[in-house]
Amino acid sequence: MTVTVVGSIAFDRVKTPFGERERMLGGAATHFALAASFFADVRAVGPVGDDFGDAEYEILRTRGTNTDDVEHVEGGKTFFWHGEYHFDLNTRTTHDTQLNVFETFEPKLSQASRDADVLFLANIQPDVQRQVREQCERARFVAMDSMNLWIDIARDSLVRTIETVDALLLNDAELKQLTGEPNLLNAARAVMEMGPRIVVAKQGEYGAAMVTRDGSFFALPAFPVETVVDPTGAGDSFAGGFVGYLAAQDQLDDAHLRRAMAYGTALASYNVEEFGTERVQRLTADEVTARVADLARITHFEDAPIQLRV
Ligand code: AMP
Repeated sequence: MTVTVVGSIAFDRVKTPFGERERMLGGAATHFALAASFFADVRAVGPVGDDFGDAEYEILRTRGTNTDDVEHVEGGKTFFWHGEYHFDLNTRTTHDTQLNVFETFEPKLSQASRDADVLFLANIQPDVQRQVREQCERARFVAMDSMNLWIDIARDSLVRTIETVDALLLNDAELKQLTGEPNLLNAARAVMEMGPRIVVAKQGEYGAAMVTRDGSFFALPAFPVETVVDPTGAGDSFAGGFVGYLAAQDQLDDAHLRRAMAYGTALASYNVEEFGTERVQRLTADEVTARVADLARITHFEDAPIQLRV
């Protein structure tokens, strides 16, 4: 199974209450690829600049991600993002976003990337997402992410991209912002009217909720980890676990979708334990499996009806 991902490949400057990194490899496509490559062959699509060297390629290629469609733009600079998390790790301030090589990027995918069974449009300009979507005609499952910036400055384009996908994964608050619906179920329904049949609301440290067109609702808490150091990329790691797991399955029924939520939750929980890609780079398959099993245990309960007083 092959998953093609397009999205930011970036240098991140990040400060959290627990430390900071001046410059580390980040980007939505990077975090996604590191997680999804536990389940399927991943092909990353996106431009990088002269400042992107062997060390960065090596991280991106962890667990075999194919970088043939990572385009080196001569004289260009890699996407740069500078963010800061405060005491409440659910909110962050963006100090700087430099699109750099993404500003003029026109994706031209190799045949191998076009032929992918599954496509993930990670966060980047919705026009770029759609250009990739149009080239991957044969994908049997297409999912996407986005963010408030694009809702603010490119909403029409974003909606046109949403119309072409099976699943939208978005932060809870952004889902409500996109649809103007303060209620999660109504917001999900509004998105499904645009086209997708699966909507996942990412709720940061509170977990994630999924609504599907057949009316099913499922939610998981975030896995309770003792040390959260840097939430950057948690959403993309979640998406990598969720979409990667589905790419490796023959069916996309409710049971598989729920398990995909568990794999997404497990990958995201490891991602936040250290800065950037540090933890997921050396994560093992056994650790992923163990965390999904723990998650199944801690979220399970047996209902035993009692006689309530009236
Ligand atoms: P997440 O924490 O999952 O929302 O993703 C964080 C990653 O998104 C960082 O590694 C950033 O490089 C990247 N990022 C931040 N802003 C943008 C943007 N406007 N477009 C695309 N990627 C972004």
